[in-house]
Amino acid sequence: SEIATMMDIPVTKIISTCMSLGMMVTMNQRLDAETLTIVAEEFDYTVDFVGAEVEESIEEHVDTEAELEPRAPIITVMGHVDHGKTSLLDYIREENVIAGESGGITQHIGAYGVELKSGQKIAFLDTPGHEAFTAMRARGAQVTDLVIIVIAADDDVMPQTKEAISHAQAAGVPIVFAINKVDKPAANPEKIKEQLSQMNLLVEDWGGKIQSHEISAKTGQGVEELLEKVLLEAEMLDLKANPNKHAVGTVVEALLDKGRGYVSTILVQEGTLKIGDYMLAGKHSGKVKAMFDERGKNMKEAGPSTPVSILGLDGAPQAGDKFHIFEDEKEAKQIASKRSQLQREQSVRTQRHITLDEIGRRIALGDFKELNIILKGDVDGSVEALTDSFQKLSTGEIQVNIIHKGVGAITESDVLLASASDAIIVGFNVRPSGNARILADNEEIDVRTYSIIYDAINDLRDAMEGMLSPEL
Ligand code: GDP
Repeated sequence: SEIATMMDIPVTKIISTCMSLGMMVTMNQRLDAETLTIVAEEFDYTVDFVGAEVEESIEEHVDTEAELEPRAPIITVMGHVDHGKTSLLDYIREENVIAGESGGITQHIGAYGVELKSGQKIAFLDTPGHEAFTAMRARGAQVTDLVIIVIAADDDVMPQTKEAISHAQAAGVPIVFAINKVDKPAANPEKIKEQLSQMNLLVEDWGGKIQSHEISAKTGQGVEELLEKVLLEAEMLDLKANPNKHAVGTVVEALLDKGRGYVSTILVQEGTLKIGDYMLAGKHSGKVKAMFDERGKNMKEAGPSTPVSILGLDGAPQAGDKFHIFEDEKEAKQIASKRSQLQREQSVRTQRHITLDEIGRRIALGDFKELNIILKGDVDGSVEALTDSFQKLSTGEIQVNIIHKGVGAITESDVLLASASDAIIVGFNVRPSGNARILADNEEIDVRTYSIIYDAINDLRDAMEGMLSPEL
């Protein structure tokens, strides 16, 4: 009805135009940007989007070089199930505590900071697994600076290890390998390094550039040296942030605590968070009433790369939501309620994901240079054959990237990766699991399944040729 008023056209005409586009809409429904553009075109109008997005009303301070100070790295631990992620995180949390603060009951709050004997600090996201990592990325939150991938030396490089590697690589985050369980008699670290080398991942003592270290998360052997290597790797990233401004960061976890209300664990990425600040996080807002770390110790302020739990928000934001601080409580509240309203009216999609059919149009717009593909198949042979054929379709203009490949059904983790990396998913003789299908529909990910290799290659080639000679 709003766009009808703007164009001075009866609202019924707008509704019937939508119906001709295959959309059943009501008068009060909010249309996404693309639909608005098409509908307006029908009536010879063009749409100009002038920062109507709520997000744009949030002013962010632009840091000058002089304001930036070094900050601690933020690390995520990933790897195959049972390879020792939790054990490593627990060991680090228990062993590396600031003098005089050991003991005390630690609570799982989703993130924690440690201070090494050298005085250097590291923040860990305690949500092991690449799903959490990529889910946050799919929501636009790139939090992790560096990934530790744990591989059990008495096992092999497993499918989930490969997934974790693909997820870290797709995010462009450096990897350090922790070859774990070396206390076990059956441990064979060299075999793991060899398997990594077969995947073109050469660790340092195999003549490559990737850091790795042999550890036991059980006895603690090698963990300190692993963290030193992590810090060395982090140093090359030259991580900096401005601590002297209002805090900006990301929500890691949030829950409703019976006694205390909503407890949200957040990671401060820039600026300093203080008690009494007015916070907006996702759809929720509130005054920060209390802050504490994973040992329950009260904190008054939290600077860059510091994880803290806070009390005071009027609800539980989602992992990956960004938070901002406002001078004015009202303003934070207004934006929060606007966001809730938008979400109720649903599907205000700002970002649509790529589909095979759309490639031609996107290249015509000149904003499409790389086609990311996630490839799953029933056997290794067909996955390798398709990888080869797909990559050969790359041209000077468009690069085909297989950002992840593997044997097995299309999983939710694949869909999340596609969403975070704007990829299409190709399945050969495999289908998506039920949940993966639902997630793919929600995230609008193009999932193509084939049972004939030739068909898969042809489809992609056709789409790519559409890229090269777009029908305008
Ligand atoms: P996650 O699934 O990757 O989080 O793995 P866990 O940390 O839960 O570890 C799985 C199992 O391996 C547990 O029974 C741990 O006690 C055991 N484990 C983990 N690290 C080591 C290690 O370095 N040495 C030995 N012997 N066992 C370990």
